[in-house]
Amino acid sequence: MEKIWQEVQFNISKVMTPQTFNAWIKPIRFQSVQGDYLILEVPDSFSREFIKEKYSGIISEAMTALTSTSYSLEFALQEKRDPIPETPVPAPEAGIDSNVNKAKSEKEADFQTFLNPKYTFEKFVCGSSNQFAYAASQAVANNPATNYNPLFIYGGVGLGKTHLLIAIGNQILASNSSARICYYTSEKFMNEMINSLRHKKMDEFRNKFRKADVLLIDDIQFMANKPATQEEFFHTFNSLYESHKQIVLTSDKFPKEIPDLEERLRSRFEWGLIADIQPPDTETKSAILKKKAEFDGIMLPDDVALFLSSSSASNVRELEGMLVRLGAYSSLTNSKITLTMAREVLKDIIVDKSKDISIESIQKTVADHFQLKVSDLKSDKRIKTLVVPRQIAIYICRELTKASYPEIGEKFGGKDHSTVIHSVKKIEKLFAQDNEIRNTIDFIKRSLLS
Ligand code: ADP
Ligand code: MG
Repeated sequence: MEKIWQEVQFNISKVMTPQTFNAWIKPIRFQSVQGDYLILEVPDSFSREFIKEKYSGIISEAMTALTSTSYSLEFALQEKRDPIPETPVPAPEAGIDSNVNKAKSEKEADFQTFLNPKYTFEKFVCGSSNQFAYAASQAVANNPATNYNPLFIYGGVGLGKTHLLIAIGNQILASNSSARICYYTSEKFMNEMINSLRHKKMDEFRNKFRKADVLLIDDIQFMANKPATQEEFFHTFNSLYESHKQIVLTSDKFPKEIPDLEERLRSRFEWGLIADIQPPDTETKSAILKKKAEFDGIMLPDDVALFLSSSSASNVRELEGMLVRLGAYSSLTNSKITLTMAREVLKDIIVDKSKDISIESIQKTVADHFQLKVSDLKSDKRIKTLVVPRQIAIYICRELTKASYPEIGEKFGGKDHSTVIHSVKKIEKLFAQDNEIRNTIDFIKRSLLS
């Protein structure tokens, strides 16, 4: 990532005078990536304000161009570092700029956890698709460990699970600044556990969790097929639950659907409340965009908000990406956002489904791209080199044509509609997580649309 940042700087240097570049962009250092956030370090608070105001757009755009991911930017102040650091660079979780967090972590040396201050309830737009999860999260934040324990939030990628999870933590911290909130992804839980095992520090590892007042575990589905992690987590869960500490979990799957999840864990996940988040409807999408635009100081006219929200994006992260792109474009070209501009800037992303593309042409293009035969895409062969291209082809059919699931299945050698849905979901997920897949799909789509 550090490398990517250097490249971004280099690209930016080409579009501004050397003076401006040296004064503002060159001193910016890469710090870390946290979820959707790119954290950059700047020398002082004056340059922070200035860079935020003037160069956020350019930086986001250059970042997106290079990584195909739209990051939100956060600027932290550079710490005065010793010329030769004695200890390794601190873990990224040690925190962004907030000195509050730093003071806290000094007090609780083994309790380093970072909660992104941007994920709050105020910034969460509530609509019919997410109101249950929203209300449940608020209830938990207002009265931890009373009614709903554990709270299990589940929903698809990019729908706001992490946002709500962290909002719970932030809200609890706001009313009790000494609360020990422990936020972990299950992946990090596993990695730390493995490290602790290796370095014979399991007691430390266990004690840390057991000291938490609130345990927030993100993406618990990652523990699928990982019995040792599940075993350890089972004990963590029990000890906190028994001492009446709040536990909140998120997952993209219902407990029953997590493969190879130990029965005793599954039943515990169902002890409290399970709240789901569905993809937002057009109205909610529009409201989310407007709120986000307002916070970021982007002037987003109503017709453009409507255009974006009636697009096929079913996921808030994608919507935000579009907005970032528009914002960057408008600040780079010094022009207002209009519907015409939005159509132009987002033409690769928002697909005009009226543009009659046939399933056959999609199959042909995907097959050519992967150097396969169309008949292989239609077959049932389960070889890995065929499965992913086949799923990609199906996904693109869903995106670019008006064909229904059964119609698509029919054209892929008579597959039933649940197979088609499965493929679409699979790729949606990969699309959100895997740059390479995303680039491939974008590339194929572009060649179909051009
Ligand atoms: P998940 O964890 O479910 O994959 P995230 O919580 O990371 O999704 O959400 C993706 C992005 O969308 C985040 O930037 C988040 O702030 C934003 N987001 C999701 N839902 C909402 C909402 N209802 N209101 C405002 N922002 C939202
Ligand atoms: Mg998440």
